[in-house]
Amino acid sequence: MPCSTLDGMVIDLHTHSSVSDGTDTPTELITTAAESGLSVVALTDHDTTAGWAEAAAALPDGLSLVRGAELSCESPNGLGGVVTVHLLAYLFDPDAPVIVAEQSRLRAERRERLHKMAKRMAADGYPVDADDLLASLPADSPAGRPHLAMALVQAGVVESVDEAFRVFLNSRGRFMVSRRDTPVHTAIQMIADAGGVTVLAHAFARHRGPTLTADVIKELAAAGLSGLEVDHPDHTPSARAELAELAGDLRLVKTGSSDYHGTNKTIRIGQESTSPEALAELVARTSGVVPVLHGKVMSSG
Ligand code: AMP
Ligand code: FE
Ligand code: FE
Ligand code: ZN
Repeated sequence: MPCSTLDGMVIDLHTHSSVSDGTDTPTELITTAAESGLSVVALTDHDTTAGWAEAAAALPDGLSLVRGAELSCESPNGLGGVVTVHLLAYLFDPDAPVIVAEQSRLRAERRERLHKMAKRMAADGYPVDADDLLASLPADSPAGRPHLAMALVQAGVVESVDEAFRVFLNSRGRFMVSRRDTPVHTAIQMIADAGGVTVLAHAFARHRGPTLTADVIKELAAAGLSGLEVDHPDHTPSARAELAELAGDLRLVKTGSSDYHGTNKTIRIGQESTSPEALAELVARTSGVVPVLHGKVMSSG
C-alpha cells in the first residue's frame, strides 16, 4: 500500500498499556485510540512485546498498529559519565533470540530494582511492602516506578502518581536505585539485526534527570539510529527546537508522540503526533520483518 494513503491521519508512536506501566489493557488502549480519532498507534511497552497480540486482535477498521517497545538503555552522556536513555524500537522480530534474552534479563533487573526501592522506603517507615508489591504484579512483567507510585497512592502516602514522582521517586531522589540497562549501541544493533528501526525517546526531557549531549546523538545516528522524538510532553519549546535542528542536520526522522500511560499520567493519547511522511520514512528504513498493520498489510517496500 503506498504510504501517501496515510495523508491526513493522526499518528501517535509512543504509548504504554498495563502490560508495562500504563493503566489501560492493550484492548482498552486500542479502543481509546480509536475513540480519540487516531489512525495509527504504536504500542511501546517498556522492555516487552507481550501486549502486541492482544492489541492487534482489538484493532477496529481504520486504526493501524505499529508494533514497538521502549528499551531501557545506558548511554555515554558526552561528558564522561553515563545516563539512562529510552530507545523506541519499531517493527522488529520479537522472536529474535538476542531480543528475547535481553528483554527477559531487563524485566528481572526491573523487578529486583523496584524491590530494593520499596525496601528503602519501608526502612524509612513508609507503609509499603516490597514483597507484596512484587507479588501483586504479573510474573515476568516489566515492573517500574509507576507501580511503586500507585502503591504509595493506595497507602495514602501521596495523592497521585505525579506527586509520588515529585516527592519520592524522581531519579535525583534518595530512594532511586539504578538498573543495568542495555548499552545503547548494542540495542540499536540488536533491533536493526531483527529488521526494526530505533528512535531516541524524550532525549531532552531535562526535568526528568540528566540527559546526553548533541555529540552523543550524532554518534548514535552514525551507529544506525533512525529517528528522534522531537515532540513529547516533557520537552520544552526550546528542547523541541534543538532536537528538530539536530534531526535535520543528522538526517534523522522527526517523530512526535504522547507517551500515553492511561491514568498514570494526565496526557491524552494523540496529544502529540507524527507526520505521515515521518512514519513512511521509518517504515522504509525497516527490513519488513514485522509489517505495519493497516487493515491490510502495508509493506516496507
Ligand atoms: P522506571 O522505568 O521504573 O525507571 O520508571 C520510569 C517511568 O516512570 C517512565 O515510564 C515514565 O514515563 C514514568 N514517569 C516518570 N516521571 C513521571 C511522573 N512525574 N509521573 C508519572 N510517571 C512518570
Ligand atoms: Fe513508563
Ligand atoms: Fe520513556
Ligand atoms: Zn514511554
